[in-house]
Amino acid sequence: MKIGFIGTGVMGHAIVVRLMEAGHELFVYNRTKSKTDDLVANGATWKDTPKEITDASEIIFTMVGYPQDVEQIYYEEETGVFSGDVHNKTLVDLTTSTPSLAEQIDQTARNKGAASLDAPVSGGDLGAKNGTLTIMIGGEQSVYEEVLPLFEKMGQAYTLHGTAGKGQHTKMANQIMIAGTMTGMTEMLVYSQKAGLSLEKVMDTLAGGAAANWSMSNYGPRILKDDYTPGFFVKHFIKDLKIALDEAEKMEIELPSTHLATQLYEKLADQGNENDGTQALIKLWWQDRTNS
Ligand code: NAP
Repeated sequence: MKIGFIGTGVMGHAIVVRLMEAGHELFVYNRTKSKTDDLVANGATWKDTPKEITDASEIIFTMVGYPQDVEQIYYEEETGVFSGDVHNKTLVDLTTSTPSLAEQIDQTARNKGAASLDAPVSGGDLGAKNGTLTIMIGGEQSVYEEVLPLFEKMGQAYTLHGTAGKGQHTKMANQIMIAGTMTGMTEMLVYSQKAGLSLEKVMDTLAGGAAANWSMSNYGPRILKDDYTPGFFVKHFIKDLKIALDEAEKMEIELPSTHLATQLYEKLADQGNENDGTQALIKLWWQDRTNS
């Protein structure tokens, strides 16, 4: 299948590799061209604009950073996806973006005789590399079924949650939960260290009980190695938490813990850590850590 892929960062790059390994023909575009160099060396074809990607492909995946990036690559007048030949094609946005933009893209796609899905993911950089992502999908059942064989190459769970935008809403549910597991995990480490416990032993024990969670299993070991590389960027988590809070406000509900997590991550970003991985939250408390 001819697959277009726009956005070859931490996640997109790893997904493109998996799709190429599955035997598909890949057309790639990224703002910084050099991030596609090795993909092109391994058989992908570079295209100069999202429009050219669209013209060359049967299905187009997008995985950029922020909602404004999504808007730009789809709607830019002469070079965007929608300025290309989208008729009878399928557009799948994997970016974590807003439900309202997913609905808007779906409407524009329908008007132009195309189909779309919003399909944000969870599972981190390792999930993308290993094909173990969880994919949260909004759109029509028939379009979901058409794309399913490709989702199977990327993830181990891929569920349709309803019409356009519902994938993004599900991803917000995911991020609201992660706000709790990241703050819980980092506070747990601060507490355990002060109490003179072995952090490795504590994490090992907690992983077998009711406190087991993905954030601790995946990011706890990185913290113990002082590895704050992304993973999942602090700046992207702040973007997600703000989308969740905006959506909550529209629904007239309050999310006090998510609000507090957002403030903590904004403080971390203000200290110059926005390009760290989210595990860097511990830096708010561990400026000069000496391991116990
Ligand atoms: P990333 O490494 O920053 O990748 C985003 C890529 O999109 C970058 O290579 C960027 O180009 C490119 N891009 C941005 N705007 C563009 C534009 N207008 N035209 C062309 N390319 C553009 O981020 P990531 O970690 O892969 O995350 C991507 C998305 O997935 C985000 O929405 C994030 O919230 C979500 N996500 C990430 C994870 C994770 O663990 N990393 C997990 C789940 C979901 P440049 O190279 O020029 O910056």
